[in-house]
Amino acid sequence: MPVSAMVINLRKETDMKRRDFLYSSGSCIAWPLLAGGCALPVTNMRNAVDTPEKRKRYLHDMLKTLCTDSGPRWAGTPAYDRGIGIIKREMERSLPQAAFDCFIFTRWDLSGETELRVGPVRIEAYASKGSPETQAAGITGPLSVVEKGVLYQINDSVSSAKTGWLTVSKFGRAVPVLYGQEKMEGLPAAGVGMQDVTVLDRACADKTPVTLRFKRTITEQAHTCSVAGTMPGREKAEVLFMAHADTNYNTVGAHDNTASLITMLMLAHTLSGTQPRYTFTFLATSAEEVGSYGAQHYVRARKEQGTLGNIKLFVNFDSLTYGPDLQLQTLDASFQDLLIRISSDLAIQGTPKAIVQAPDIDGEPFAREGVRGININSRGYTWTLPLWHRPEDTAEKIPSELVENNFLVFSEFIRRIQQENV
Ligand SMILES: [Zn+2]
Repeated sequence: MPVSAMVINLRKETDMKRRDFLYSSGSCIAWPLLAGGCALPVTNMRNAVDTPEKRKRYLHDMLKTLCTDSGPRWAGTPAYDRGIGIIKREMERSLPQAAFDCFIFTRWDLSGETELRVGPVRIEAYASKGSPETQAAGITGPLSVVEKGVLYQINDSVSSAKTGWLTVSKFGRAVPVLYGQEKMEGLPAAGVGMQDVTVLDRACADKTPVTLRFKRTITEQAHTCSVAGTMPGREKAEVLFMAHADTNYNTVGAHDNTASLITMLMLAHTLSGTQPRYTFTFLATSAEEVGSYGAQHYVRARKEQGTLGNIKLFVNFDSLTYGPDLQLQTLDASFQDLLIRISSDLAIQGTPKAIVQAPDIDGEPFAREGVRGININSRGYTWTLPLWHRPEDTAEKIPSELVENNFLVFSEFIRRIQQENV
């Protein structure tokens, strides 16, 4: 099936909406309903994260639950659904309103392994997310260089027509990348590791045939949910924090993006029992890894509700633990300046860097609607990036001091944006 058809149908469905309501009201049916949500018995969670020791414990416990005790939280899978349920319950501990934002999408799954052989030698590979599958016997033929060390093509042994692609990871071993329909011309594609480039180059030179084989399944009407929790403020003007809750199909994604998601939950807990000036919403999105479908759906839902305009700014956390240097991606210099100032005032280790570029990925659907905001990523450690989209991206690899620093920076950010007119 062409991958253009894999583009999610971000449909609005009344039955889906009804179900969302039932989900969100299930645990608080006896409590008086507020507009757009329901009142929950909120305990004061501020004291659960009010010291560095407690925050370290909270991080550890949540990483254990969401990563160590879980499989990959690939959108549409039971592991994802369990994870997002846990995240919703965490939000309900501090925020009076928490509700799922569910949608239907076309789900791609790898069935079994990705098999790649150069001659008789097996090489590690991961099918690209959304790629068409190979023929059952695999595609076999000589390899040629498209861009040395970056991109290779497999050619048919008889007709020498192009039959598939191999893309080399930028950071280390093989990773599944998102399939590009136009670039890949509808042919199967898989990711390979940097360490195998010499083997591939040799195969090109001596015409050793390579074989790529994998199967995938498509679920047309897959169901998944983001979750949004809100602390109403004295003003309608809203600040939206978000972090994607899904992972790639081959990893539990501790760095990408669980640790940052947990940081966001800790920030939500700091507002427990308070009435801030602004309304704060914390959004854990689904299906970022397959094309930011959760963020797109949420923007659309808020637009239809007529409340998208309330969002004064968004802050998108994506992988804040790769190193101490936050990367601040926005065209809006005021947020960069504020975060750089905060980092310096608090004497936080690391050098925040302004990336003058419009927010992409989960920030893109908001930015496209004219909502001001920022995407945040990080750099600074050489050993973390090779974990990106890899099975080795596990809980014990999270530098907890970076999570603590990020918590301090963004709690101060929450305080200052309500004082200064950013
Ligand atoms: Zn991510």
